[in-house]
Amino acid sequence: MIQLAVFGDPIRHSLSPQIHKYFAEQAGLRVDYKRILTPPEGLGERFAAFVDAGGVGANITLPLKEVALSLADQLDALVVQTGALNTLTLSNGAWRGSNTDGVGLIKDLHRIRGALKGARVLLVGAGGAARGVTPALLAADIRSLHVANRTPERAEQLLHSIFPEGSDPELLKRCSAGSLTTMPRSQFDIIINATATGLHSERPTLPERVLMAKPLCYDMVYGDKPTAFMQWAKGQGCEVSDGLGMLVGQAAESFRLWTEVTPDPDSVLMLLRRQHGLWSAE
Ligand code: NAP
Repeated sequence: MIQLAVFGDPIRHSLSPQIHKYFAEQAGLRVDYKRILTPPEGLGERFAAFVDAGGVGANITLPLKEVALSLADQLDALVVQTGALNTLTLSNGAWRGSNTDGVGLIKDLHRIRGALKGARVLLVGAGGAARGVTPALLAADIRSLHVANRTPERAEQLLHSIFPEGSDPELLKRCSAGSLTTMPRSQFDIIINATATGLHSERPTLPERVLMAKPLCYDMVYGDKPTAFMQWAKGQGCEVSDGLGMLVGQAAESFRLWTEVTPDPDSVLMLLRRQHGLWSAE
């Protein structure tokens, strides 16, 4: 039996055990995936108990993605760059820290829209989720990235931390940052809402002109109805998506790291929507 778990607080509503159960069935593997309620101050102790019980792989979710860095013996370059991890894998007696959120997002955007090459992207939010996906977006050969955040200094900081001094000037030229209201003049092909507003039936207050080119409007949040951001964009004739595909995609990448088996996320995404009554744009 492969012992896995997700650590976070709150954790009761996490769909990860269900997703990994489906992946294990696909792969013909026996997996025990637990939810472990963990406030930051309890992480060391609860993780140690999990390891003693034979744990070999873990997901880390809010609010532990930064504090969990201390559990890893080795960090992937992406984790060093973004300062956040969501996956721990036991390999040759050492714990390796990875961040699979970027892979999950990019795979889902490919599924919905095809290639991202040349896309003009507006990333709204500058918290852990936005930081975790920024390198993957840039690696997807997009034309430009503008990061907008309610606290604009955090958007600037995000770019500074991703691009330390001496970074490729060509890459830097493609990136900018600002507040929710100060936007570059150019249009956008994709808008990604990486703020927590969807959890509170709110949306970031963006100017309407960001929707002029009818971009794909992607909200990282998911649930039984479209978020306020998706409703706003849909009302202006834009294609919209929630973040359930990203969740399944990051889980698939974690499962691959733990088991070396690459699962099929699309069938699991359909099953989840059907069995949990989750909203779908399709
Ligand atoms: P976080 O670190 O707490 O960051 C929250 C972000 O939301 C910040 O940029 C914050 O702006 C912004 N924000 C909060 N309330 C706002 C408001 N009323 N108006 C405008 N902006 C507001 O959280 P996170 O880890 O980045 O997560 C963000 C969201 O992504 C969460 O809802 C999470 O569930 C979701 N997520 C989904 C997946 C997936 O797989 N689908 C993966 C990761 C995260 P300030 O900086 O100004 O405070």
